[in-house]
Amino acid sequence: MKKDIHPKYYQCKVTCACGNSWIVGSTRKEISLDICSACHPFFTGKQKLVDTAGRVEKFRRKYGIKDKTTEAMEKKNKKDSK
Ligand SMILES: [Zn+2]
Repeated sequence: MKKDIHPKYYQCKVTCACGNSWIVGSTRKEISLDICSACHPFFTGKQKLVDTAGRVEKFRRKYGIKDKTTEAMEKKNKKDSK
């Protein structure tokens, strides 16, 4: 390896918002994630919308698409507004 051109290599602790954490080799000491392989729907196989600010619901309402999720959300919103 050539001298003085390589960044320092750390045992990096990766932490996900779901609470999952693991160690990888990286040039950074710590990484925090919003989503990882333990909680991403692609890997869990569960249909779960990753919705950060009600954007999916907003889209569905805009185009009149209804499903269990939107119905539940609407019920909840009604309850909350009372
Ligand atoms: Zn995760």
